[in-house]
Amino acid sequence: MLENALSDRHDLKRRGVLFVLSSPSGAGKSTIARKLLADEPELGVSVSATTRPMRPGEVDGKDYHFVDLEEFRRMAADHEFLEWAHVFDNRYGTPHAPVDAMLDAGQDVLFDIDWQGAQQLHQIAGGDVVRVFILPPSMPELRDRLVKRATDSVEVIDARMARAANEVSHWDGYDYVLVNDDVERCFRDVKTILNAERLKRSRQTGLIGFIRKLTR
Ligand code: 5GP
Repeated sequence: MLENALSDRHDLKRRGVLFVLSSPSGAGKSTIARKLLADEPELGVSVSATTRPMRPGEVDGKDYHFVDLEEFRRMAADHEFLEWAHVFDNRYGTPHAPVDAMLDAGQDVLFDIDWQGAQQLHQIAGGDVVRVFILPPSMPELRDRLVKRATDSVEVIDARMARAANEVSHWDGYDYVLVNDDVERCFRDVKTILNAERLKRSRQTGLIGFIRKLTR
């Protein structure tokens, strides 16, 4: 009986978590996303398509699918995106098919998307979506991190700082809001959120059958 119950439990299925991480650029989101992916084998990542130029060190197909405006428009017209948005002067979109494939394979999916994407995804997938917003400890600290990153021109950094205030104003569209003043602690908190969300009763789809067998 115990053995059956245990092996049944092993078969318990759960709904995948659509795990959204948003922040103004430079708040440390990419570092946390990278650490999370390295640490969580059941977590896949959604690679967005973008029309923005590739930065030094970025890899096409890994960081983004870098496409031109014409191709982006075609993808949008062919309903290949789960969501898409204008961010700065560029377009960014989440391709639908890879997300479906990861969920079908029993994985959770990590999305590094902005508040517009988080909002759209929540409209589409509701309770499956968990939205986490990461704040910088201060605006001067954010600028400092962008300057140190040395991947953008001064004009681009100014534009990102101007946009950061707008991004931050959307904090209340998120389920969790964290301040990244210590990257290790922030990472641990993000991991705790993911694991607690995985355990939610609403995600345990095999629970009714399991309980029936348990109490038979
Ligand atoms: P970056 O150009 O710094 O890589 O990204 C700029 C912003 O676009 C970030 O806030 C990032 O989260 C957001 N972003 C990246 N991919 C997507 C996407 O597919 N959809 C949406 N809505 N935002 C995205």
